[in-house]
Amino acid sequence: MSPLEISSSNFQYILENYKEICYNVENAKDKYARSGENVQIMAVTKTVEPEKINFAIQQGIKLLGENRVQEFISKKDMYDKSAQVHFIGHLQTNKVKYIINDVSLIQSVDSVKLAGEINRLAVKNNKTMDVLVEVNIGDEITKSGVAFNDCTELVKSISEFENVHIKGLMAIPPIGCGEDVFEKMHELYLRIGEMKLKNVEMDILSMGMSGDYELAIKHGSNLVRIGTKLFGARKYFGG
Ligand SMILES: *Cc1c(COP(=O)(O)O)cnc(C)c1O
Repeated sequence: MSPLEISSSNFQYILENYKEICYNVENAKDKYARSGENVQIMAVTKTVEPEKINFAIQQGIKLLGENRVQEFISKKDMYDKSAQVHFIGHLQTNKVKYIINDVSLIQSVDSVKLAGEINRLAVKNNKTMDVLVEVNIGDEITKSGVAFNDCTELVKSISEFENVHIKGLMAIPPIGCGEDVFEKMHELYLRIGEMKLKNVEMDILSMGMSGDYELAIKHGSNLVRIGTKLFGARKYFGG
């Protein structure tokens, strides 16, 4: 075997994990009467080596989720370019410039200030930037995201920026929270969609991780962000 074959045969567990996730996603869609809908599976790449990420892309992953600006910058040139990248981690305003041309969407927008900087750089780069508004659905002090009750106002404010397009909402429901929390998020997503604001389309509800993606699908999620269940346990906490 060539070195390449040896290393990719070590990655077979990623293929097995991916098949299982696909199967569970399809199952959840059938079970919750969402068979006709598309649910995207994102591979969350924090702490994962580029070789493993590229292997996952070769198995069918089309979307990557990046948490950390510094880590992304050091790894992005090694990625198979056939997958799109979303930024999903806490983003400081002064770091937007490092990622704006390398990601197709920023999921973690939670302030007018951050959206304003994204708009400024989008204008400068002659583009529009797709974003999701991150909601701190559990009102957890340790988590970023706009408070649930302030979300609609924030969406309205951000919609004034012509070069920022809001494509939906992102949330991390607290571990072990009730299903009502997921449903509350789904209702907010539908409600904002009905408002028909300019520069706003509720196309993406990004909710569900390794431990709760089937439940999230039950409650309207159409983008699940999977790290551990795809690549295995992380060696250190990557945020
Ligand atoms: C790490 C992370 C995930 C994936 O978490 P797992 O439990 O490993 O699947 C999803 N979304 C965000 C924002 C994350 O930071």
